[in-house]
Amino acid sequence: MREYLNDAVRLYFNELVDWDTFFRWTKGPDCNPQSERDALFSVVETAAQICSEIEESTRAGWTEEAQLVDGEVVPPPHIVAAYERIREAGLISFGVREEYGGFGLPAFVANLLLQMISRADAGLMTMVGLQAGVAEDIQEFASEELKQQYLPRMASGEWMGAMDLTEPQAGSDLGQITTRATEKDGECFISGGKIYITNGGSEIHLVLARDDDTFEQSKGSTRGLSLYIVPRTLPDGRRNAVSVTRLEEKLGIHGSPTAAVSFEEAQGFRIGQKGAGFKAMLSLMNNARLGVAAQGIGIAEAALSTAVAYARERLQFGVPIAEQPLMKDKLARMTLSLEGSRALLYRACMLIDRNRAIDEAFSRPDEFSESEQREMSQERERNDTRIRLLTPLSKYLATEAADQITREAIQVHGGLGFMAESEVGKLHLDAIITTIYEGTSEIQVSFALKEIGKGALSTVFENLEAELKGFQDEALRPFADKVLEGMRLILDASSALLADMGYALMSAQSLAEVVSSVIAGAELLSQAKADPRRLDLAASWINRQMVDLESRCRRIKEGSSDRLDRCAAIIALND
Ligand SMILES: Cc1cc2nc3c(=O)[nH]c(=O)nc-3n(C[C@H](O)[C@H](O)[C@H](O)COP(=O)(O)OP(=O)(O)OC[C@H]3O[C@@H](n4cnc5c(N)ncnc54)[C@H](O)[C@@H]3O)c2cc1C
Repeated sequence: MREYLNDAVRLYFNELVDWDTFFRWTKGPDCNPQSERDALFSVVETAAQICSEIEESTRAGWTEEAQLVDGEVVPPPHIVAAYERIREAGLISFGVREEYGGFGLPAFVANLLLQMISRADAGLMTMVGLQAGVAEDIQEFASEELKQQYLPRMASGEWMGAMDLTEPQAGSDLGQITTRATEKDGECFISGGKIYITNGGSEIHLVLARDDDTFEQSKGSTRGLSLYIVPRTLPDGRRNAVSVTRLEEKLGIHGSPTAAVSFEEAQGFRIGQKGAGFKAMLSLMNNARLGVAAQGIGIAEAALSTAVAYARERLQFGVPIAEQPLMKDKLARMTLSLEGSRALLYRACMLIDRNRAIDEAFSRPDEFSESEQREMSQERERNDTRIRLLTPLSKYLATEAADQITREAIQVHGGLGFMAESEVGKLHLDAIITTIYEGTSEIQVSFALKEIGKGALSTVFENLEAELKGFQDEALRPFADKVLEGMRLILDASSALLADMGYALMSAQSLAEVVSSVIAGAELLSQAKADPRRLDLAASWINRQMVDLESRCRRIKEGSSDRLDRCAAIIALND
């Protein structure tokens, strides 16, 4: 349990999250922030307890896949039992508000839960995570009637949810969706096939489909797509025409069922506006992207603690391998990579919660003066820009970190790491998918570039600059200055880059990495300010990343789209 509720988690809970403002704005001046915070902490403690207890069975059952039995998806027994434990604790659909039977947990806490579940079993996390995401999207966009109809049973975990976007020709490019929604006498019917659907056997499907009346004009774009709740059982008890046609066998996350799903004139209930389904789905996808970042952190934590423990006990040349300088450097780099990603993710979550708190505060305008409201409204706008950039960056950084950390953990174990029963080997196979679903890494860095192109960097850096200049402590000041210098180099390189879109896209990964490194650097410094034991971590992150940043920025600045021609020539050597 201690590993699940580790020092970093406690530091945020105890020091870095501004619970006072959060609860004052969400619950009003009469609430007691300390007892509200304690209640949230006890939810996290419960989750940590459950996750540490299910870990043994999920590790032992890791290879077991879900089965398709008479058209029903049956997850492996250890997954059913683990889901039941989480459900009994009321931790399913945790973002659903209390009025619909959920906890309405802040994004920071919801993502901590996902991180911990993922640490116990990444496959189980996808099931719980998508269930929560689908329910929250219904909460945000559906009519009151649909919310009443579906949310309480989703919040209780009785009904599971699936998000049905992907089709064989429509993966990263959802503009290619051809599943069709037809309206007849005021009712909607969905026809088409989806693939790779997590929780594909669920009762509730949230389906993105192209409207029949604008089908031809909108084909190839995300306009003309609407979002539908398509239940397996219709409100009058009849079976809807939704079926699972196949379950996939995968490299990892075996416990999570991944299905091909067919809709044959299945009745659907539109949520959100007609033709604006992609926008409604984006809200789910953005939450899910942070959820997958949390999944990456959970997997990486598991691999790193296993690797450190092994390196301390494995003797070679008469000493534990952890004592070898090369191994020390490797384990330290793995830790830096985990903590840098964590810093970025937690910062994104805190910004989301800050904006949710502002929204709640605005529902009680009498409690705030006009100037307070003006300030909050300006902050909300700035935070929105920051969240739009930090979301793809967090997903990119944490999932790529999980991929690398788990791979390095295999290396730490030597030959043992390559054996079929290797725990870290399994974690690596689980980690790979995090860089693919909910938008691949390439798509995340392209999204980040798009936000930078729209001017996000000036807002993000404005906040960052003020924050960094506030680190007056002698121990922190030199590192804050290094990050400030890094920001200057990024601004210089990015302005040259954005003039040439082809080249900008080619450099999107480098740009995403350098921008992430300065934001995470600032966050690690605030960790160090709150807990001086983390100073070496922040210092080492900044020292290493800023050297890399300098050369990357120079390379970005000196290049042009001619490099694309060179890439083409190099690839042609394979012909
Ligand atoms: C286990 C699993 C569970 C999943 N769960 C769900 C689910 O619940 N619901 C759902 O709807 N979908 C789900 N998916 C689908 C997943 O979201 C897609 O696989 C993913 O978005 C990538 O699409 P694709 O597989 O078609 O790859 P493609 O889009 O064909 O991409 C192939 C490669 O090309 C790259 N690429 C594509 N476009 C660009 C570009 N513009 N610039 C640079 N590179 C590019 C990609 O990054 C990738 O490396 C799941 C997939 C898996 C494997």
